[in-house]
Amino acid sequence: MQLDHVRSNGLGRAAAELSGPAATVTRMTVVGQPELGPEQLTLAHMPTRLFGCTPSRLAAFDCPRRYRFTYLDRPAPARGAPWAHNTVGATAHLALHRWWLLPRSQRTPDEGASLVERNWQANGFRDDAQSAQACVTTAAWVRQYLADHVDPADEPVGVERTVAMRTERLAVSGRVDRVDDRDGELVVVDYKTGRRELTADDARGSQALALYVLGVRRTLRRGCNRVELHHLPTGKVSAFEHTDESLQRHLDRAESAAEDIVAATDTLASGASADDVFPPMTSSACGWCDFRQHCPEGRAASPDLHPWAGLAEPPPS
Ligand code: SF4
Repeated sequence: MQLDHVRSNGLGRAAAELSGPAATVTRMTVVGQPELGPEQLTLAHMPTRLFGCTPSRLAAFDCPRRYRFTYLDRPAPARGAPWAHNTVGATAHLALHRWWLLPRSQRTPDEGASLVERNWQANGFRDDAQSAQACVTTAAWVRQYLADHVDPADEPVGVERTVAMRTERLAVSGRVDRVDDRDGELVVVDYKTGRRELTADDARGSQALALYVLGVRRTLRRGCNRVELHHLPTGKVSAFEHTDESLQRHLDRAESAAEDIVAATDTLASGASADDVFPPMTSSACGWCDFRQHCPEGRAASPDLHPWAGLAEPPPS
Protein backbone atom coordinates (compact mmCIF):
# COMPACT_ATOMS: atom_id res chain seq x y z
CA MET A 1 0.00 0.00 0.00
CA GLN A 2 2.73 2.37 0.86
CA LEU A 3 4.39 1.77 -2.48
CA ASP A 4 1.11 2.18 -4.34
CA HIS A 5 0.55 5.46 -2.59
CA VAL A 6 3.98 6.65 -3.53
CA ARG A 7 3.37 5.59 -7.12
CA SER A 8 0.08 7.42 -7.30
CA ASN A 9 1.60 10.74 -6.40
CA GLY A 10 4.66 11.95 -8.25
CA LEU A 11 5.26 14.81 -5.85
CA GLY A 12 4.97 12.31 -3.04
CA ARG A 13 7.68 10.32 -4.79
CA ALA A 14 9.89 13.35 -5.13
CA ALA A 15 9.32 14.31 -1.53
CA ALA A 16 9.77 10.71 -0.45
CA GLU A 17 13.34 10.80 -1.65
CA LEU A 18 13.98 13.35 1.05
CA SER A 19 12.58 11.42 3.92
CA GLY A 20 14.54 8.32 4.74
CA PRO A 21 13.07 4.87 4.29
CA ALA A 22 10.73 5.85 1.49
CA ALA A 23 13.77 7.00 -0.44
CA THR A 24 14.99 3.42 -0.52
CA VAL A 25 11.64 2.25 -1.84
CA THR A 26 11.65 4.86 -4.58
CA ARG A 27 15.19 4.20 -5.66
CA MET A 28 14.67 0.46 -5.68
CA THR A 29 11.58 0.85 -7.80
CA VAL A 30 13.45 2.91 -10.32
CA VAL A 31 16.39 0.68 -10.89
CA GLY A 32 14.77 -2.67 -10.08
CA GLN A 33 17.11 -3.77 -7.31
CA PRO A 34 16.83 -7.43 -6.28
CA GLU A 35 15.73 -6.43 -2.77
CA LEU A 36 12.26 -5.66 -4.16
CA GLY A 37 9.55 -7.61 -2.40
CA PRO A 38 7.75 -10.41 -4.28
CA GLU A 39 4.57 -8.39 -4.67
CA GLN A 40 6.59 -5.77 -6.53
CA LEU A 41 7.79 -8.18 -9.19
CA THR A 42 4.45 -8.56 -10.94
CA LEU A 43 4.14 -7.28 -14.50
CA ALA A 44 1.85 -4.52 -13.29
CA HIS A 45 4.67 -3.21 -11.18
CA MET A 46 7.51 -3.58 -13.62
CA PRO A 47 9.71 -0.51 -13.31
CA THR A 48 9.19 2.18 -15.91
CA ARG A 49 12.32 3.20 -17.78
CA LEU A 50 13.80 6.28 -16.21
CA PHE A 51 14.08 9.19 -18.62
CA GLY A 52 17.02 11.46 -17.87
CA CYS A 53 16.61 15.02 -19.09
CA THR A 54 16.78 18.74 -18.50
CA PRO A 55 13.75 21.03 -18.54
CA SER A 56 14.81 22.36 -21.93
CA ARG A 57 14.94 18.83 -23.34
CA LEU A 58 11.37 18.24 -22.22
CA ALA A 59 10.31 21.60 -23.67
CA ALA A 60 11.90 20.76 -27.02
CA PHE A 61 9.27 18.06 -27.48
CA ASP A 62 6.66 20.81 -27.98
CA CYS A 63 7.70 20.16 -31.57
CA PRO A 64 8.63 16.47 -31.86
CA ARG A 65 10.60 17.07 -35.06
CA ARG A 66 12.72 19.72 -33.37
CA TYR A 67 13.31 17.30 -30.50
CA ARG A 68 14.52 14.67 -32.95
CA PHE A 69 16.83 17.12 -34.70
CA THR A 70 18.23 18.30 -31.37
CA TYR A 71 18.63 15.07 -29.45
CA LEU A 72 18.38 12.04 -31.71
CA ASP A 73 19.67 12.61 -35.23
CA ARG A 74 23.40 12.00 -35.47
CA PRO A 75 25.22 13.62 -37.03
CA ALA A 76 22.96 16.43 -35.91
CA PRO A 77 21.53 18.62 -38.68
CA ALA A 78 23.31 21.94 -39.10
CA ARG A 79 21.76 24.77 -37.17
CA GLY A 80 20.97 28.18 -38.52
CA ALA A 81 23.03 31.28 -37.81
CA PRO A 82 23.50 32.30 -34.16
CA TRP A 83 20.89 34.67 -32.75
CA ALA A 84 21.96 38.06 -31.46
CA HIS A 85 19.47 37.88 -28.58
CA ASN A 86 21.13 34.65 -27.45
CA THR A 87 24.45 36.48 -27.32
CA VAL A 88 22.82 39.14 -25.16
CA GLY A 89 21.28 36.57 -22.83
CA ALA A 90 24.40 34.46 -22.51
CA THR A 91 26.63 37.45 -21.79
CA ALA A 92 24.27 38.92 -19.19
CA HIS A 93 24.06 35.55 -17.44
CA LEU A 94 27.82 35.14 -17.53
CA ALA A 95 28.38 38.61 -16.08
CA LEU A 96 25.89 38.04 -13.26
CA HIS A 97 27.51 34.70 -12.50
CA ARG A 98 31.07 36.04 -12.40
CA TRP A 99 30.03 39.09 -10.41
CA TRP A 100 29.28 36.86 -7.44
CA LEU A 101 32.71 35.25 -7.73
CA LEU A 102 34.38 38.64 -7.16
CA PRO A 103 35.60 39.68 -3.72
CA ARG A 104 32.86 41.47 -1.84
CA SER A 105 34.57 44.87 -2.22
CA GLN A 106 34.54 44.59 -6.03
CA ARG A 107 30.87 43.72 -6.39
CA THR A 108 29.66 47.07 -7.66
CA PRO A 109 27.10 47.79 -10.38
CA ASP A 110 29.85 49.24 -12.56
CA GLU A 111 31.86 46.06 -12.23
CA GLY A 112 28.81 44.11 -13.45
CA ALA A 113 28.65 46.34 -16.53
CA SER A 114 32.36 45.88 -17.05
CA LEU A 115 31.95 42.11 -16.98
CA VAL A 116 29.44 42.42 -19.82
CA GLU A 117 31.85 44.53 -21.84
CA ARG A 118 34.85 42.28 -21.24
CA ASN A 119 32.97 39.12 -22.20
CA TRP A 120 31.08 40.50 -25.18
CA GLN A 121 30.96 38.61 -28.48
CA ALA A 122 29.61 39.80 -31.80
CA ASN A 123 27.65 36.66 -32.75
CA GLY A 124 24.39 37.24 -34.59
CA PHE A 125 24.48 40.99 -35.05
CA ARG A 126 23.91 42.84 -38.30
CA ASP A 127 27.19 44.74 -38.02
CA ASP A 128 29.73 46.07 -35.54
CA ALA A 129 27.67 49.14 -34.79
CA GLN A 130 24.64 47.08 -33.79
CA SER A 131 26.81 44.79 -31.70
CA ALA A 132 28.40 47.76 -29.92
CA GLN A 133 25.00 49.30 -29.19
CA ALA A 134 23.70 46.01 -27.82
CA CYS A 135 26.76 45.73 -25.60
CA VAL A 136 26.11 49.18 -24.17
CA THR A 137 22.44 48.36 -23.62
CA THR A 138 23.14 45.03 -21.95
CA ALA A 139 25.81 46.53 -19.70
CA ALA A 140 23.32 49.22 -18.66
CA TRP A 141 20.67 46.59 -17.84
CA VAL A 142 23.10 44.69 -15.64
CA ARG A 143 24.35 47.84 -13.93
CA GLN A 144 20.82 49.03 -13.14
CA TYR A 145 19.66 45.60 -12.04
CA LEU A 146 22.55 45.24 -9.62
CA ALA A 147 22.00 48.74 -8.27
CA ASP A 148 18.26 48.30 -7.77
CA HIS A 149 17.84 44.66 -6.82
CA VAL A 150 21.02 43.13 -5.44
CA ASP A 151 22.79 43.50 -2.11
CA PRO A 152 26.38 42.40 -2.72
CA ALA A 153 26.68 41.30 0.92
CA ASP A 154 23.68 39.00 0.65
CA GLU A 155 25.43 35.88 -0.61
CA PRO A 156 23.14 33.59 -2.59
CA VAL A 157 22.91 29.94 -1.62
CA GLY A 158 23.87 29.10 -5.18
CA VAL A 159 24.76 30.74 -8.49
CA GLU A 160 24.49 28.65 -11.66
CA ARG A 161 23.69 25.88 -9.20
CA THR A 162 23.06 22.41 -10.60
CA VAL A 163 20.06 20.73 -8.99
CA ALA A 164 18.43 17.41 -9.68
CA MET A 165 15.46 15.34 -8.71
CA ARG A 166 13.78 12.18 -9.86
CA THR A 167 10.61 10.22 -9.77
CA GLU A 168 9.97 6.72 -11.00
CA ARG A 169 9.79 7.92 -14.60
CA LEU A 170 11.92 11.00 -14.71
CA ALA A 171 15.40 12.14 -13.69
CA VAL A 172 15.65 15.89 -14.19
CA SER A 173 18.69 18.05 -13.69
CA GLY A 174 19.39 21.65 -14.55
CA ARG A 175 21.21 24.78 -13.56
CA VAL A 176 19.45 27.52 -11.64
CA ASP A 177 20.65 31.07 -12.29
CA ARG A 178 20.52 31.90 -8.62
CA VAL A 179 19.15 30.41 -5.42
CA ASP A 180 18.44 32.96 -2.68
CA ASP A 181 17.78 32.43 1.00
CA ARG A 182 14.91 34.66 2.08
CA ASP A 183 14.12 34.31 5.75
CA GLY A 184 15.04 30.67 5.81
CA GLU A 185 13.26 29.62 2.63
CA LEU A 186 14.99 29.17 -0.70
CA VAL A 187 13.88 31.05 -3.81
CA VAL A 188 14.58 30.13 -7.44
CA VAL A 189 15.71 33.18 -9.43
CA ASP A 190 15.80 33.13 -13.22
CA TYR A 191 17.24 36.04 -15.25
CA LYS A 192 15.43 37.03 -18.44
CA THR A 193 16.63 39.35 -21.20
CA GLY A 194 13.94 39.00 -23.86
CA ARG A 195 11.88 41.78 -25.36
CA ARG A 196 8.59 40.75 -23.82
CA GLU A 197 7.70 41.92 -20.35
CA LEU A 198 6.89 39.05 -18.04
CA THR A 199 4.09 38.51 -15.54
CA ALA A 200 3.32 36.30 -12.58
CA ASP A 201 1.54 34.01 -15.04
CA ASP A 202 4.86 33.40 -16.78
CA ALA A 203 6.43 32.46 -13.44
CA ARG A 204 3.50 30.24 -12.55
CA GLY A 205 3.39 28.53 -15.93
CA SER A 206 7.08 27.78 -16.27
CA GLN A 207 7.63 24.04 -16.08
CA ALA A 208 11.37 24.61 -15.83
CA LEU A 209 11.02 26.78 -12.73
CA ALA A 210 8.67 24.29 -11.09
CA LEU A 211 11.11 21.46 -11.73
CA TYR A 212 13.91 23.62 -10.34
CA VAL A 213 11.90 24.07 -7.13
CA LEU A 214 11.69 20.29 -6.80
CA GLY A 215 15.38 20.02 -7.67
CA VAL A 216 16.32 22.62 -5.06
CA ARG A 217 14.27 20.82 -2.43
CA ARG A 218 15.90 17.54 -3.33
CA THR A 219 19.47 18.74 -3.78
CA LEU A 220 19.74 21.34 -1.03
CA ARG A 221 17.28 19.67 1.32
CA ARG A 222 15.61 22.94 2.19
CA GLY A 223 12.15 24.38 1.83
CA CYS A 224 11.49 26.08 -1.51
CA ASN A 225 8.23 27.30 -3.06
CA ARG A 226 8.88 30.66 -4.64
CA VAL A 227 10.07 31.26 -8.18
CA GLU A 228 11.03 34.64 -9.59
CA LEU A 229 11.67 35.89 -13.11
CA HIS A 230 14.03 38.88 -13.05
CA HIS A 231 13.58 40.76 -16.32
CA LEU A 232 16.78 42.73 -16.80
CA PRO A 233 15.54 45.15 -19.51
CA THR A 234 12.81 46.50 -17.22
CA GLY A 235 14.04 45.47 -13.78
CA LYS A 236 10.64 43.93 -13.17
CA VAL A 237 10.40 40.87 -10.91
CA SER A 238 7.53 38.46 -11.61
CA ALA A 239 7.00 35.91 -8.87
CA PHE A 240 4.85 32.94 -7.99
CA GLU A 241 4.53 30.90 -4.81
CA HIS A 242 4.14 27.27 -5.72
CA THR A 243 2.02 24.86 -3.73
CA ASP A 244 2.36 21.11 -3.68
CA GLU A 245 -0.65 21.02 -6.00
CA SER A 246 0.80 23.39 -8.58
CA LEU A 247 4.11 21.51 -8.50
CA GLN A 248 2.25 18.26 -8.91
CA ARG A 249 0.52 19.54 -12.04
CA HIS A 250 3.86 20.49 -13.57
CA LEU A 251 5.35 17.17 -12.59
CA ASP A 252 2.43 15.27 -14.10
CA ARG A 253 2.90 17.08 -17.40
CA ALA A 254 6.64 16.51 -17.32
CA GLU A 255 6.19 12.79 -16.71
CA SER A 256 3.58 12.58 -19.45
CA ALA A 257 5.95 14.27 -21.90
CA ALA A 258 8.74 11.93 -20.84
CA GLU A 259 6.53 8.92 -21.51
CA ASP A 260 5.66 10.26 -24.95
CA ILE A 261 9.33 10.89 -25.75
CA VAL A 262 10.37 7.40 -24.66
CA ALA A 263 7.54 5.82 -26.65
CA ALA A 264 8.36 7.82 -29.78
CA THR A 265 12.08 7.08 -29.45
CA ASP A 266 11.43 3.36 -29.09
CA THR A 267 9.04 3.38 -32.05
CA LEU A 268 11.61 5.14 -34.20
CA ALA A 269 14.27 2.63 -33.16
CA SER A 270 11.98 -0.20 -34.21
CA GLY A 271 11.91 1.14 -37.76
CA ALA A 272 8.99 3.55 -37.91
CA SER A 273 9.08 6.65 -40.09
CA ALA A 274 10.73 9.60 -38.34
CA ASP A 275 8.08 11.99 -39.66
CA ASP A 276 5.31 9.77 -38.34
CA VAL A 277 6.57 9.48 -34.78
CA PHE A 278 8.32 12.85 -34.57
CA PRO A 279 6.00 15.04 -36.67
CA PRO A 280 6.51 18.76 -37.15
CA MET A 281 4.38 20.93 -34.86
CA THR A 282 4.24 24.31 -36.47
CA SER A 283 3.70 27.46 -34.44
CA SER A 284 4.97 31.01 -34.16
CA ALA A 285 8.11 29.46 -32.63
CA CYS A 286 9.08 28.14 -36.07
CA GLY A 287 10.45 31.56 -36.95
CA TRP A 288 13.03 31.15 -34.18
CA CYS A 289 13.78 27.47 -34.76
CA ASP A 290 17.43 26.63 -35.35
CA PHE A 291 16.42 23.82 -37.71
CA ARG A 292 13.90 25.57 -39.97
CA GLN A 293 16.21 25.17 -42.97
CA HIS A 294 15.52 21.40 -42.71
CA CYS A 295 11.77 21.80 -42.19
CA PRO A 296 9.52 22.80 -45.11
CA GLU A 297 6.43 22.86 -42.90
CA GLY A 298 8.05 25.25 -40.45
CA ARG A 299 9.27 27.55 -43.21
CA ALA A 300 5.79 27.64 -44.71
CA ALA A 301 4.27 28.50 -41.34
CA SER A 302 6.47 31.45 -40.44
CA PRO A 303 8.55 34.17 -42.07
CA ASP A 304 12.33 34.14 -42.13
CA LEU A 305 13.77 36.33 -39.41
CA HIS A 306 17.04 38.18 -39.26
CA PRO A 307 19.41 36.82 -36.61
CA TRP A 308 19.08 40.13 -34.77
CA ALA A 309 15.26 40.20 -34.90
CA GLY A 310 14.94 39.25 -31.22
CA LEU A 311 16.92 42.18 -29.87
CA ALA A 312 15.18 44.46 -27.43
CA GLU A 313 14.83 48.02 -28.56
CA PRO A 314 17.60 50.22 -27.16
CA PRO A 315 16.36 52.76 -24.63
CA PRO A 316 15.60 56.21 -26.08
CA SER A 317 18.65 58.43 -25.86
S1 SF4 B 1 10.55 24.83 -37.94
FE1 SF4 B 1 8.79 24.55 -36.56
S2 SF4 B 1 7.87 22.59 -37.18
FE2 SF4 B 1 9.94 22.66 -38.06
S3 SF4 B 1 11.26 21.63 -36.57
FE3 SF4 B 1 11.34 23.81 -36.11
S4 SF4 B 1 9.73 24.14 -34.57
FE4 SF4 B 1 9.34 22.17 -35.52
